[in-house]
Amino acid sequence: MHSTPPALIDIGLNLTHDSFDSDRKTVIQRAQDAGVSRMILTGASLDGSRQALDLARDYPGVLYATAGIHPHHAKEVHGDTWHVLRELHALPEVLAVGECGLDWFRDLSPRPTQEKVFIQHLELAVQNQLPMFLHQRDASDAFVSILADFRERLSRVVVHCFTDSRKALFALLDLDCHIGLTGWICDERRGRHLKELVPSIPADRLMIETDAPYLMPRDLDPKPDTQRNEPMYLPHIAREIARCADKPEDQLARETTTVASAFFQLPSTPQTGTGASA
Ligand SMILES: [Zn+2]
Repeated sequence: MHSTPPALIDIGLNLTHDSFDSDRKTVIQRAQDAGVSRMILTGASLDGSRQALDLARDYPGVLYATAGIHPHHAKEVHGDTWHVLRELHALPEVLAVGECGLDWFRDLSPRPTQEKVFIQHLELAVQNQLPMFLHQRDASDAFVSILADFRERLSRVVVHCFTDSRKALFALLDLDCHIGLTGWICDERRGRHLKELVPSIPADRLMIETDAPYLMPRDLDPKPDTQRNEPMYLPHIAREIARCADKPEDQLARETTTVASAFFQLPSTPQTGTGASA
């Protein structure tokens, strides 16, 4: 008998991205073969959220979706948006409100619009009590102050792809947020400060994600021919986080899977997709 490593959960990836159009099925199979048993597809626009739902429905028990409007798309919100999101959030495959939040790094929507749309998502999550999947870049103070006003009335909250400072991390932990880490941590230069912060993230608040097709881990060996990130690289990211946390890979895998299962209220027995069931 050999022990198989615990199945991982990728809490944020964009499998509906057109870079996966030609081989999506293979990408999902490769991820499952690598031990990534469940994946939560990020809905970042109205169309994107619908597409994530459709794809999740093709893989019951393996793929799930979130539904929300990324701050880049905040300026596209119209009257119908909230009605459609409400309908999506009522479906069993849709596990969280988001991706939403603030992005003042790229500023693709005006900041006041981003704030307004972020607040509208928070109000929605107060009503439906779904967990929230949040994005924050270069807007920590505004983000924390808006979130703080709502925090007591919300259920669980994850700030995904955390890359910010120690101060920002502790402000989020003070607000009882979960933290999502990506392959950003594998970047020798950009990820250095993040590596040092890993031991400060409590095990019961840490989850892992690829954000595929973005954020390819920069230290893969051999280097893939393409810059397209895939969920099959999640174990590689987990390995680096385990190293930073100074704990065995298996333990980190078990812990993050337990945390993600509870956060998104997934069934406790992961489907491995390897034909283990009788
Ligand atoms: Zn994001």
